[in-house]
Amino acid sequence: MTEFELIRRYFAAQPVRRRDVVLGIGDDAALLTVPHDRELVVTTDILVSDIHFLPDVDPEALGHKALAVNLSDLAAMGAEPAWFTLNLVLPRVDEGWLTRFCAGLYALARRHEVQLVGGDTARGPLAVSVTAHGFVPHGRALRRAAARPGDRIFVTGVLGDAGLALAHRLGQRRLPEDDFRSLRERLERPLPRIAEGLVLRGLAAAAIDVSDGLAADLGHVLEESGVGADVDVERLPVSPVYRKHLEAAGWDAAIAGGDDYELCFTVSPGRLGEFEGARSRLSAGATEIGVITAEPGLRLRRADGTPYRPGGAGYDHFAGVEPP
Ligand SMILES: [Mg+2]
Repeated sequence: MTEFELIRRYFAAQPVRRRDVVLGIGDDAALLTVPHDRELVVTTDILVSDIHFLPDVDPEALGHKALAVNLSDLAAMGAEPAWFTLNLVLPRVDEGWLTRFCAGLYALARRHEVQLVGGDTARGPLAVSVTAHGFVPHGRALRRAAARPGDRIFVTGVLGDAGLALAHRLGQRRLPEDDFRSLRERLERPLPRIAEGLVLRGLAAAAIDVSDGLAADLGHVLEESGVGADVDVERLPVSPVYRKHLEAAGWDAAIAGGDDYELCFTVSPGRLGEFEGARSRLSAGATEIGVITAEPGLRLRRADGTPYRPGGAGYDHFAGVEPP
């Protein structure tokens, strides 16, 4: 199959057709209309075989995740997604693999009405890169640098399921097969918190998506904002399956496991009332986990106020945490 045939068969006839796409796939470049009252938000991410996923990954899950991680970055900016481009490096043309990859990719694209408008393919070691584009009203994007002392810190959904699933897959932890199956869903098919990001626009002060683990990503917010935080580890939201393994696994996967794709955000004391009113519109839910402080650094505490000591080995993401 030539590259032209491959593009025509798998990428030209895709399901989402937006009115703001003047010209999509098929010319030298795409032509896109940005609404006059909006800023364009652009993000990109690359997933490389053996580094970001195992070579025998389910192609449907890979198609989903390649787009999901980019939509998650748009969510963290409070942006509404519009378009994406796809670069695909394939070791060989395997039509069964491509069909499944596209099924995962387009199911998520359809869910968020985001249209593929271009890309490139090449022969080589398996890698996928997506660039996603979205809109925010002028000056309304959620940023990392906007946290202030006294802000409450929240996180959507639950943390640590993906980290625990990855630890099982890498042989660092043994979970019952049923538990692994349910946690694996969170690792392979994260759901970007787009709707939640739109609710938080105008309510949250700072926001970030949790891709490298709460400690690392909240650490970026603290650094960019020039502040610190006290986080109550025992308030971190975890799933019922995670809770079953809490005694053996501790909180480390929830703090530093990564791949959660939840939103971590802060709300200033003056906006808490308004935030409470909007909270029922956050369908993933939101849990208060701590407070922003003027004193820099991230301090993890237990409910009784004593410092939390990470128990597991093998996590690089505790780097920003203040030593107890
Ligand atoms: Mg991000």
